[in-house]
Amino acid sequence: MELPNLPSDVPLPPAPGDRPPPAGQGGESLRSLLAQREATLLAPYAVHSADSRGRLYYEPPHPYRGPFQRDRDRIIHCAAFRRLSYKTQVFTGEMGDYHRTRLTHTLEVTSLARTLGRSLRLNEDLIEALALLHDIGHPPFGHAGEETLNRCLEAEGGFSHNAQALRITQLLEQRYPEFPGLNLSWEVLEGQWYRAHKSQPAGSPLLEVQVVDAADSVSYDTHDADDALHLGLLTLDELAEQPLWREALVRVRRRWADLHGDELKRAVIHELIDWQVSQMLVRAAAVLESGVIDGIEAVRQHPPIVQLRSDLAEQKLLFEQFLFQRVYRHPQVVAVRREAQQWLEQLFERLSADARLLPPFFRERAEEDGVSRAAADYLGGMTDRYARQQFEACFRLDS
Ligand code: MG
Repeated sequence: MELPNLPSDVPLPPAPGDRPPPAGQGGESLRSLLAQREATLLAPYAVHSADSRGRLYYEPPHPYRGPFQRDRDRIIHCAAFRRLSYKTQVFTGEMGDYHRTRLTHTLEVTSLARTLGRSLRLNEDLIEALALLHDIGHPPFGHAGEETLNRCLEAEGGFSHNAQALRITQLLEQRYPEFPGLNLSWEVLEGQWYRAHKSQPAGSPLLEVQVVDAADSVSYDTHDADDALHLGLLTLDELAEQPLWREALVRVRRRWADLHGDELKRAVIHELIDWQVSQMLVRAAAVLESGVIDGIEAVRQHPPIVQLRSDLAEQKLLFEQFLFQRVYRHPQVVAVRREAQQWLEQLFERLSADARLLPPFFRERAEEDGVSRAAADYLGGMTDRYARQQFEACFRLDS
């Protein structure tokens, strides 16, 4: 299996093709029950478990779990997933305990994506696996950490959290004796591959992938605003100048004219999510019910279906630009980012100069992929807390 380092060239494993389970594996009646259940509940344009292209390393079907249920379970049980609880979404742990971590963001995305998926009669097991996986490649300190590692690996293809999720699930996780990584189903890897290749579209992704992307986008905008309000980085008055927020505010005022402060904030946040998700469902249902989408191939050939209507999308873009300037570039956030970036950069320089400082697994990886990539893999897997401890252990001892 080839796994080049370049994020722009992250390969998909070849589809293994049909290999019948060995005789006597059992579970056939339960599997046929799953097939019947999906035939009843899922739309023709959803991914049906029985149609999965399988895994790179052949494994007999599980007696009572479908392939995507199994993928979801493997993701939840892997070390990279657990570490999301101590990784930054936007604000680090030092800034409080109300705001989202990378883990709680992931769970919120999963919840929204399942809501969209159930309404459109898509495969919820696949959606759940894709959503739980989508940010697993994030290094410590959120996008600040990603920018630093990308700079450090500039000469070697860079670092991207979306591509890193594929390296983790195909190579870096060590849980099973028979194969490296998690040996996930092809459809899960392909969904993540689309995230890593957004600038090089190759047809549209599966609808299960589209709902996860949509849920991620609605979730982070809205929740970043919520967290920033709580931290005092923004005010409700400032937000009311943004067309997207103002429209949600008008909708809330129609139901509750007298809400103020935190009550008003919570109602607007809820409305923003509910309204955007509802709009996406209306738009997607209109396309799906028109009859032109009769299966997965038609989904791939059609422009993306799960999207906001254009006027809302424009308002959302303005809202993101506002958040970028006022939240992600807020002096308080920038100061924390700058310090974290220095920690990561110095750790990278130290580790990439001497592979003997890497743990044994990453020392072996250095022989395969070079010491810079192995150092970035090691650093990328750290939580914020562990990266900070490593920095202190490494550099305070020197001083
Ligand atoms: Mg995300």
